[in-house]
Amino acid sequence: MHYDYLVVGAGLYGAVFAHEAKQRGKSCLVVEKRDHIAGNIYCKNIENINVHVYGAHIFHTSDKFIWDYINKFAEFNNYINSPIAKYKNELYNLPFNMNTFSKMWGISTPQEAKEIIASQIADLNITEPENLEEQALSLVGRDVYEKLIKGYTEKQWGRDCRELPAFIIKRLPLRFIYDNNYFNDRYQGIPVGGYTRIVEKLLDGIEVRLNTDYLLNKEELDSLADKVVYTGMIDRYYDYRLGVLEYRSVRFETELIETDNFQGNAVVNYTEREVPYTRIIEHKHFEFGKQPVTVISREYSSEWKKGDEPYYPVNNEKNDALYQKYKELADREERVIFGGRLGSYKYYDMDKVIKAALEMCGRELQ
Ligand code: FAD
Ligand code: UDP
Repeated sequence: MHYDYLVVGAGLYGAVFAHEAKQRGKSCLVVEKRDHIAGNIYCKNIENINVHVYGAHIFHTSDKFIWDYINKFAEFNNYINSPIAKYKNELYNLPFNMNTFSKMWGISTPQEAKEIIASQIADLNITEPENLEEQALSLVGRDVYEKLIKGYTEKQWGRDCRELPAFIIKRLPLRFIYDNNYFNDRYQGIPVGGYTRIVEKLLDGIEVRLNTDYLLNKEELDSLADKVVYTGMIDRYYDYRLGVLEYRSVRFETELIETDNFQGNAVVNYTEREVPYTRIIEHKHFEFGKQPVTVISREYSSEWKKGDEPYYPVNNEKNDALYQKYKELADREERVIFGGRLGSYKYYDMDKVIKAALEMCGRELQ
């Protein structure tokens, strides 16, 4: 059998591409090195709870076209992400909003909150924030920075807040209203029954080979198709010949607990430096679960090394420059298309991955 496309990786990007290619009469073979499909959005059913095995995933977008597209493959519930931050024995609402400020300072009006923030940064004279610390201080003042940002960020990234780019913190909403919705997007939810089913539907009728690492069987697999869509790590594709792109990895300690409700919320962030994990996810709350037991995952962040799962690209100047060099090589490939979060070395939310895959289909599948 000869295929039009060999798709490397059965994550969201690869699955959307394969689905669209099939719709247009093209044949695809999908290869996946893990023993399951769905990439990092894979959910495993434990005691009837959909456990987000590679980290909590909340679908959110403002793009109606993408929302309508994903709704063809799943029904979404009305979950709104509203994490809690725990600093020592103090609990705060996230993202940073009037609930956070009133708990922090015992105040009640936006005016009071703004005055306190202004007074805490008056002597710093930050005009153009040059790093994450300056950005955070200028947005929320010293108390919120010290209690809710500094420790968490340094655990998450393994780097001092002054060495991290400002944009990381800017993706969190900051509001002077009482609103704990973590996202500003118009559409949000969790697919009823978990994410794996979405990918199952996308890949319906398409041949998938699991436990198959493309790079270990490259010659043989290349001979099976005209073109390759590669969604693995771009530097690994080139055997790291120009250098290694840095990632943060995450270790999940998952536990089944004989209680129906462990922490009362899907996401609790532990923002102090001394607690070794960054957050605890209680999976059932994503789907308002009523099971008699619960499953929680503690997340421990670490520097990625070869053999670990790559999670967050470290998009600083050094890595972005190295990625550009790999991209130049990739752009010269005639029969290989690089895509997805690993192929593009980008922190991509799911909606952006779908959009990128559909745009590529538009160019490729004329
Ligand atoms: P992946 O899901 O990584 O799929 C790539 C696949 O390729 C993997 O299955 C991999 O095993 C396979 N592969 C790699 N190399 C090879 C090879 N050589 N041979 C064969 N197979 C290979 N997005 C949101 O919108 N909301 C969220 O709440 C959210 N939370 C997140 C939390 C965490 C901890 C992380 C890390 C990401 C989160 N994301 C979230 C982003 C989301 O996970 C991605 O947008 C999406 O999963 C990317 O899909 P992908 O297909 O590009 O990559
Ligand atoms: N962040 C923080 N305290 C928190 C939550 C987030 O300081 O309680 C910072 C941290 O630097 C993190 C960034 O905000 O990397 C973005 O947070 P987000 O929740 O988007 O991270 P993700 O869900 O991608 O891990």
